[in-house]
Amino acid sequence: MDANLKQEKRFKGIAASPGIAHGCVLLLAEEELTVPRYRVEGDAIENEIQRFENALLETRGQIQSIQEKIRQNLGEDEARIFDAHLLVLEDQALIEESIKEMQEHDLNVEAAVWTVGHRYIEAFGQIDDEYLRERASDLRDVLRRLLSNLTGQALEQIGTHMDDRILVSNDVSPSAAANIDRSKLLGIVTNAGSKTSHAVIMARSMEVPAVVGLGSFTDEVDQDDIVLVDGYEGVVILNPSESTLHAYGKLKDEKTSLEERLLVHSREASTTKDGKEILLMANIETAEEASRSLEFGADGVGLFRTEYLFINADSLPTEDEQFEVYSKTAKAMAGKPVVFRTLDLGGDKMPRESMEMSLGPESNPFLGYRAIRYCLDHDDVFIVQLRALLRSSVHGDVRIMYPMISGSAELKDANQILEDAKSQLRSEGVAFNESVKVGTMIEIPSAAIASDTLVADSDFFSIGTNDLIQYLIAVDRLNDRVAHLYEPTHPAVIRTLDNIVSSARRGDLSVSVCGEVAGDPVMVPLLLGLGIENLSMSPSLLPSVKFVVQNMSMEEAERLGKMALAEPDSTKILENLLDYYTDLMSGL
Ligand code: PEP
Ligand code: MG
Repeated sequence: MDANLKQEKRFKGIAASPGIAHGCVLLLAEEELTVPRYRVEGDAIENEIQRFENALLETRGQIQSIQEKIRQNLGEDEARIFDAHLLVLEDQALIEESIKEMQEHDLNVEAAVWTVGHRYIEAFGQIDDEYLRERASDLRDVLRRLLSNLTGQALEQIGTHMDDRILVSNDVSPSAAANIDRSKLLGIVTNAGSKTSHAVIMARSMEVPAVVGLGSFTDEVDQDDIVLVDGYEGVVILNPSESTLHAYGKLKDEKTSLEERLLVHSREASTTKDGKEILLMANIETAEEASRSLEFGADGVGLFRTEYLFINADSLPTEDEQFEVYSKTAKAMAGKPVVFRTLDLGGDKMPRESMEMSLGPESNPFLGYRAIRYCLDHDDVFIVQLRALLRSSVHGDVRIMYPMISGSAELKDANQILEDAKSQLRSEGVAFNESVKVGTMIEIPSAAIASDTLVADSDFFSIGTNDLIQYLIAVDRLNDRVAHLYEPTHPAVIRTLDNIVSSARRGDLSVSVCGEVAGDPVMVPLLLGLGIENLSMSPSLLPSVKFVVQNMSMEEAERLGKMALAEPDSTKILENLLDYYTDLMSGL
């Protein structure tokens, strides 16, 4: 049928990587690998085991070369994703079980490997944990490659088919993504996936628009259909009409010219119309992102999530390895403040099993053994990180911040371990900044309500609204079925922020917000009106937030702050903020 005669159809998914793309679909069906199954008896089993070992080696070589390609094209962090694949190939349990399956059932190697592999995939897939489900997808990817090598069936090389296309697939595995020539890839659309899935990490670093989590979208499209991908709103439009294309064409032009104009102002100071200086900082996870954040006009790093150093590793990073990353970041920021948050593992951020950190699984991981709770229980791990952070403090304005503090006893215990780290370094004659600033993240309701009890032992507060809101409203931040209840303008959130600011002011502490709301230009005037003077966000959000700061006044912000404290209806608060924001943007 002529594409023009086809009906336009809209699908809503998760906005994974911003941007708008329009083009022809490259539908990547899961290739059907035929897995032969036959009886192998007696000594012939030895031959099957030998074939298995050869295939493991061949697969290993292929993954290593993909990893090298990724390292050169995208960088070290992206390449590390393949470490998980290499680990699957070394997994003794998987190897031994496959051999046992061959021996006990007189089975050929392909059938045995398929059976054992799928047993694991199913087990992982049933666990209600995003991280472990991702591991199932790693295992599936490795298994397909292994079987393809055993059976001699070539895996589809999507890179060779790409030609200014929008990739539509059930999921995009890291090794498939590695074969894509990004100059020819317009967009990515997948049935599966979440904001933390590997395909999404890749799409963002390739700056390719992506929408994921669309359920069964691959059943709705045919090869060569025309789609439009709106990575801002998480919408995919199949067979877009002329008028839709026209509207999106305009939107794309507007977004591009808006981003260009905002970037021009991002190098200027973040000062309100009536002269109040606001610090706009970056949330980053790697040393490499530090210089990128400066390009977007960051006044410093307000949140360095150090756990990514641990998540992407097979063993605990040593003190020297950590020092390398922390000092590199501090140097790159050239004297601007850098707030390193100590290890916040647990919840949805789990290390690899090979790390043997005994964090999970738990029935309520967000209420469980995570972050400072783990660190206080493992002061041997904690003190290594604190020593590395202290050592890096001579290379810039390094600050340290503890996550998930629930009360003053934990804060005092953490500070005691920091003192121990300092005494060790002193006795070893190692230099560090004696007056390094130490902050507390306020992201648990108990810490927020009793924030006055934390003032004496903190140099600053930073409010983690992502967790604070999920705990205040009892709404899982990862669960899209209750996402509508996740309201930053809920009166309980506004009052809690107000209380934290009051405690900080009484103790003469600075207070920042480093959760996602800090990067939401609609929320920014309210946060300033409640007395927050420091906001930290993803680097690419800095220009639009800076524009809002530069074009508003504190007088208007304070009016919005008072309105929000008096108004019982969260929707009305949001409407008032939207009105203000719309007015402000009309001046652009
Ligand atoms: C937060 O909870 O707001 C925060 C910044 O930390 P994370 O998102 O890493 O939990
Ligand atoms: Mg948090």
